[in-house]
Amino acid sequence: MSLLSGKVRERLEALGIKFASELPGRIRELRSAVFTALANPTDPKSVETARSLAHKLAGSGSTFGFQDVSTTARKIENRIARLSSAEEVKEGDGVDTPDRKEVSELLDDLNAAAEKPEQSRKLSLPDSELMEEVAPGAEGYRARLVLLWLPDETTADDLYAQLGFFGFPVEKISGTDTIEQRLTGERQVIAIIDVSVVEQSTGCAQTLSGLKESHSDELSMMFVSGSDNFDVRLSAVRWGGDAFFAAPFEISGMIDATESLASRNEAPPYHVLIVDDDHDHVSYLALTLQKAGMVTSLATDPRRVFKILVEEKPEIILLDMYMPEANGVELAKVIRQQESYVGIPIVFISVETDPQKQFQAISQGGDDFISKPVDPIVLVNTVRIRAERTRRMRFFMERDSLTGLLNHSNLREKMSLELQRAERMENGMCFAMIDLDHFKWVNDTYGHLTGDRVLKSLAKLLQERLRRTDTIGRYGGEEFGVILFDTNAHNAERIMGELRDSFSRVHHLAGDREFYVTLSCGIASYPTYRTVNELTEAADAALYEAKESGRNVVVTAKG
Ligand code: GH3
Ligand code: MG
Ligand code: MG
Repeated sequence: MSLLSGKVRERLEALGIKFASELPGRIRELRSAVFTALANPTDPKSVETARSLAHKLAGSGSTFGFQDVSTTARKIENRIARLSSAEEVKEGDGVDTPDRKEVSELLDDLNAAAEKPEQSRKLSLPDSELMEEVAPGAEGYRARLVLLWLPDETTADDLYAQLGFFGFPVEKISGTDTIEQRLTGERQVIAIIDVSVVEQSTGCAQTLSGLKESHSDELSMMFVSGSDNFDVRLSAVRWGGDAFFAAPFEISGMIDATESLASRNEAPPYHVLIVDDDHDHVSYLALTLQKAGMVTSLATDPRRVFKILVEEKPEIILLDMYMPEANGVELAKVIRQQESYVGIPIVFISVETDPQKQFQAISQGGDDFISKPVDPIVLVNTVRIRAERTRRMRFFMERDSLTGLLNHSNLREKMSLELQRAERMENGMCFAMIDLDHFKWVNDTYGHLTGDRVLKSLAKLLQERLRRTDTIGRYGGEEFGVILFDTNAHNAERIMGELRDSFSRVHHLAGDREFYVTLSCGIASYPTYRTVNELTEAADAALYEAKESGRNVVVTAKG
């Protein structure tokens, strides 16, 4: 974190220095534009050019702490804006001398303000400690390690293998020393400990709760026991346990717990789209948000907004109120015209301080208003709260409620995007369709609820074993679809073959009855198949072939 913070801070400071160094040039440019406008007050283009230059200078001036530059530029902007109102303009002969004098003086003030010594400026940089407080470790995913401390060899071997099928690195241990050694701060450690080993060695309970207390961020403890009663459960809690399981162990339940323990602070970063025609201001906003662990996409041209919305799915949009191509309110309306983006939060950013105007902007399609100079804490908090809401809403709209995987229509939508990407990057890509074998029999024999648990365990297996760049969806009933990013047919067959094998060895429980389930899989690859329909049809045909040939196999469509 500190390394990153240092870098971002450096870059933010560099931006401020860059702004300062470019300031004289920008003022010269503004001066010439202003005099052109004064000479041609009826030419809307000259007037707009001058107004827009003054406006940008006012905005970035306040962002980088040049308050006097900002205030003076604002006065010039207002003066120019008045040019376009009818009574000012006397046809043909430009603007009166007293007015020229006034503007000329303002431009001189601007030069003076730009040359003011450092002490008058306070760069509104995010204070790093404060920022860390509002942005707890959003640095991405942490590796995991499962430690197994179980007295019974057979149970230990079995759990070792089962957790391995789901892709967890596992190590068998026999004491608290190893736990302590494995706490390196670089990964999430999940210790699965039998209650009996703690009861049998004196001081062990104390050591464990001590470790838990001093490493609460990286250590999770799951206690297991051959018996289930109030007293063991209470002990587990007192020793600092995060979860408890009694034999026989239901592997998918344990995986669920392991997963949620390991990923407590690991939600992927929020994705923010920033639309602003001022490069420096865009960079300032982007760096501030990145420092808080978020991902940003930038558009200095409003025409790029839709492409980014479709391809990168940002969770919130920050819009500059005033841009020459299309102003923020107009752009917000255009975005809202599309049904898919009715719900995305839009926050306006502007030097506007008039509450009436702010309110007007919000009532026309915005959700919130942040004024320049942008306070980094306000920015980060506003963005986080709204992005979180989008994320929760999207989850329910796009995902299947049983497995949490993408639903049918969103899987297909994603496939279409991945196809475009594969084409653009000249990569391979594969679509795999999975169907559980004889699943009707599972339901009939063990009941629908047990069937649901089998579906969940397959979803977990896919999530744990595939890469984050792959996409997993529930295609329907007991059918799943997987998009393998940047993968050719040969590798896809190997990957899906390994998954098929692992899944066939996962044991499922119905009460104390144990059973196994297999899956069949059909694969179709791009560029052999080039559209969503071609890919799904080919994968489906290959899956059918897999079923015909006896099930529990993977078949690749040959094209
Ligand atoms: P095959 O090997 O040919 O695929 O046989 P199968 O029995 O798996 O296929 P079939 O299409 O005959 O049956 C699918 C079963 O999946 C029937 C349906 O009740 C069950 N199923 C679909 N969705 C769910 C669900 O959400 N939960 C549960 N428990 N079962 C489901
Ligand atoms: Mg089936
Ligand atoms: Mg089926």
